[in-house]
Amino acid sequence: MSEVNSMKVKLINYCKDPEKIVAQSARLCYSALDIEDLRERLSDESIIKLIKKIMKLGHYSVLEHATFTFAIEGISRVTSHQLVRHRLASFSQQSQRYVKINEQGFPYIVPKSIEKNKKITKIFIDAIKDLDRIYHLLLSYNIEAEDARYILPQAVKTKVILTVNARELLHIFRLRCCNRAQWEIKEMSIKMLKAVEDVAPTIFENAGPPCISGPCPEGELSCGKPWTKDKEEGVNE
Ligand SMILES: Cc1cc2nc3c(=O)[nH]c(=O)nc-3n(C[C@H](O)[C@H](O)[C@H](O)COP(=O)(O)OP(=O)(O)OC[C@H]3O[C@@H](n4cnc5c(N)ncnc54)[C@H](O)[C@@H]3O)c2cc1C
Repeated sequence: MSEVNSMKVKLINYCKDPEKIVAQSARLCYSALDIEDLRERLSDESIIKLIKKIMKLGHYSVLEHATFTFAIEGISRVTSHQLVRHRLASFSQQSQRYVKINEQGFPYIVPKSIEKNKKITKIFIDAIKDLDRIYHLLLSYNIEAEDARYILPQAVKTKVILTVNARELLHIFRLRCCNRAQWEIKEMSIKMLKAVEDVAPTIFENAGPPCISGPCPEGELSCGKPWTKDKEEGVNE
């Protein structure tokens, strides 16, 4: 049984020239030129200028032409459940119906708040071991994995492949990179942000929670702290 917290977030695919396709789409709206000519005439400088312009104008629909695919491993079902609430992204998730947990037991996440207290960690892990034992007992009684899984806790680790366009990704970053988001989805989102910054730096230049560019909309619930990509822990949802 593995209790190691080892989240992996990898950008495994993205559309060719994400910033160029966004700039080309923006230019198309305001130009009489043929589509191919538009693309050829776009210099690196004009791509940056166009993207900054559409972001300022709020012409966000052109951002939907840039897509990104992430492989995410070692997150809990708590976090995958929060992630799949984002309806405009596309998901594939490892099935608990078709993938039985092996004899080594299920891998799981221990929240940091629990991990820092040895006594509580032991209680938590003992409960996990009990659930794991019951899961395998159910299988031994020929209960299908799809029904045995009802005993699994939300701490169980899962794997997801997610494809999302830049507009929705900016929305996810606004909500989930925020200090008000739960620590695990915040950590995952910041890793996603760092990955796309490398391939589309202008689009994601000001990505993150709303307090980066204006007042915090959280009112009384505001964390009141300056935001930084280097600090990954959040508060509970
Ligand atoms: C800190 C925090 C706490 C939360 N707590 C809870 C909670 O206690 N309970 C709970 O149930 N959820 C909770 N959520 C989840 C939240 O309610 C949303 O389901 C989740 O954040 C997905 O965001 P979304 O609906 O804005 O966007 P997405 O599904 O990512 O969609 C993006 C945008 O598209 C538009 N859109 C998408 N679908 C529609 C539609 N059908 N009609 C109109 N416009 C649409 C909206 O403008 C939307 O903002 C919480 C989220 C956060 C960040």
